[in-house]
Amino acid sequence: MKIIQDEFSVRTTSRNQMIDINSQVEAFVSESGISDGEVTVYCPHTTAAITINENADPSVQHDMLMTLEELLPQDRPGYRHYEGNSDSHCKSTLVGCSERVLVKNGKLQLGTWQSVFFCEFDGPRNRKYIVQVRGQ
Ligand code: ZN
Repeated sequence: MKIIQDEFSVRTTSRNQMIDINSQVEAFVSESGISDGEVTVYCPHTTAAITINENADPSVQHDMLMTLEELLPQDRPGYRHYEGNSDSHCKSTLVGCSERVLVKNGKLQLGTWQSVFFCEFDGPRNRKYIVQVRGQ
């Protein structure tokens, strides 16, 4: 089994944002030479996340971010964290810091409408994510 890993940079431009990173992940899997196995995309930040969801209608991203904002408003009374970004930390944990996708014949086994997204919850910032391909 081979393991190939690299780190990617992403510049976010608003406080809450979803960025489709699917083409970068697909290209890395393709370049890895691994045809069968799995790929993990990992976010090493406490106020950002990784998710998989619809890539066709951008309104889905808008609606998900709006829903997260309603569930976890930035100005919710009672937060104690001194940085003032407790909503960002909560959104990060709710969405999760990684996703794993199966790889077969060099292709990610995603559904037709699925993409991997980097989720920003305290931008704009310079961020990174780690991609690891395991397999043969
Ligand atoms: Zn904080």
